[in-house]
Amino acid sequence: MELQIRDLAKTYGNGVRALDRVSLTIPTGMFGLLGPNGAGKSTLMRTLATLQDADAGSAVLKGLPGGDIDVLRDKDAVRRVLGYLPQDFGVYAKVSALDLLDHFARLKGLVDAPSRRQTVEALLHRVNLHAVRKQKLGGFSGGMRQRFGIAQALLCNPKLVIVDEPTAGLDPEERVRFHNLLADIAADVIVILSTHIVSDVADLCGQLAVIDAGRVLLTGRPDALVAGMQGRIWRKAAGKGEIEALKARLQLVSTRLQAGQTIVRAYAEGGVPEPGFEPVESELEDVYFCSIAGYLRDPVAAAA
Ligand code: ADP
Repeated sequence: MELQIRDLAKTYGNGVRALDRVSLTIPTGMFGLLGPNGAGKSTLMRTLATLQDADAGSAVLKGLPGGDIDVLRDKDAVRRVLGYLPQDFGVYAKVSALDLLDHFARLKGLVDAPSRRQTVEALLHRVNLHAVRKQKLGGFSGGMRQRFGIAQALLCNPKLVIVDEPTAGLDPEERVRFHNLLADIAADVIVILSTHIVSDVADLCGQLAVIDAGRVLLTGRPDALVAGMQGRIWRKAAGKGEIEALKARLQLVSTRLQAGQTIVRAYAEGGVPEPGFEPVESELEDVYFCSIAGYLRDPVAAAA
């Protein structure tokens, strides 16, 4: 199975070009869509989830037993294979997890009560909410609510699962639990995870794309992208007054506080950028920041 997106474009009525000829090939497994706020991630997710229309381009889900699906035109067919967890997934605070999931299941067409009950119970087990299924959703933590969101997205065995910024606001423990759940469902379906959190993608995704201002800057495997950056990232502890000058002279990647010191990381292809810097192992965050900053001269090709 594969989702082929070609030259997808969207300009909103206010003139914002949210998608600028986006082309991506997304295989089964976890795919990370990484970009800063306003990059166009939600626009892409909502378009693939049939909730809004693109101006131009195509998206085709290939390799399904029932034949290919034209995602932009055959919305009913997409909805039959889609699981979607939107960014602003709201729940009814006064309803129990069991009742709301049952309600969603009925909306999805599971009319036979006994088998619907079985499906709902199994999903609540799968997302580890079975023990609290009779509690009202209003009392759930952010992580529990997101796991409930995944349960409703998994109703009817979707082949394409889209989760938009799912870990924003989760504490570290809840994030790990949520990651494990996503990794578990990604075995034989396409899961697209949109996020601005680099470590979500580093830990989870077999493939990623970086987008900014509606354009794909980079695609590839996280490990290969990181390996491709080896030897190009340099670090030093900088004094407070030094940072602005360094910014002006060098291609700075990030400044972080570490044990009370400001550590700057710089990108340089041809050896040490200036005395005082030392080589350091590259990380996915370096890849991300360098692509957003435009340091990678031919970014899409660099990833190939
Ligand atoms: P992201 O999910 O990466 O934060 P979005 O897809 O939400 O990005 O937004 C991309 C750009 O499109 C932003 O500049 C945003 O302000 C703009 N935008 C999003 N939705 C609308 C809309 N309904 N009308 C006008 N502009 C929008």
